[in-house]
Amino acid sequence: MAVLPVIVAPDPRLKVKCKPVEKVDAAVRKLMDDMLETMELAPGIGLAAPQVGVAKRIIVVDVAPSGEPRKPYRMANPEIVWASDDMVVFEEGCLSLPDQFAEVARPARIRVRYLDHENEIRELEAKDMLATCIQHEMDHLDGVLFVDHISALKRNMILRRLKKEKKTKATVGA
Ligand SMILES: [Zn+2]
Repeated sequence: MAVLPVIVAPDPRLKVKCKPVEKVDAAVRKLMDDMLETMELAPGIGLAAPQVGVAKRIIVVDVAPSGEPRKPYRMANPEIVWASDDMVVFEEGCLSLPDQFAEVARPARIRVRYLDHENEIRELEAKDMLATCIQHEMDHLDGVLFVDHISALKRNMILRRLKKEKKTKATVGA
């Protein structure tokens, strides 16, 4: 397994619509494992392929609290087949928007259909944090960031802050 560099916003690679995976083969499986390792080290609870520069519909998620057994999900071509009317609000963060957080409302429960790491079609019912995390990662596959769900004022504030930090880092890190 390998740790991959995570792309930080603003970056055009985070705004692309990703292509479906034809088949979960060894290469896709390796990418899923590398993404999981990258996510765990960060640490984060989810990661989408475009965040590591791969424009494919692949996400990994693991919302198990630290200290508890891991419960990783590897998903290719995830699709929401049902979502509840009731919404839930979580404060969201993102490995591509380091140290930035905002409250986002999303359906509290979803049913998601996907290809697992063995190319089997699966369906998962998720609620609360797991549901939110899957929806957040799926947004990435369509070039949507959590800040796209909040007011333009707040979004621009966050993106300006990140842009400024990038510049500072570039100068210091050379
Ligand atoms: Zn994210």
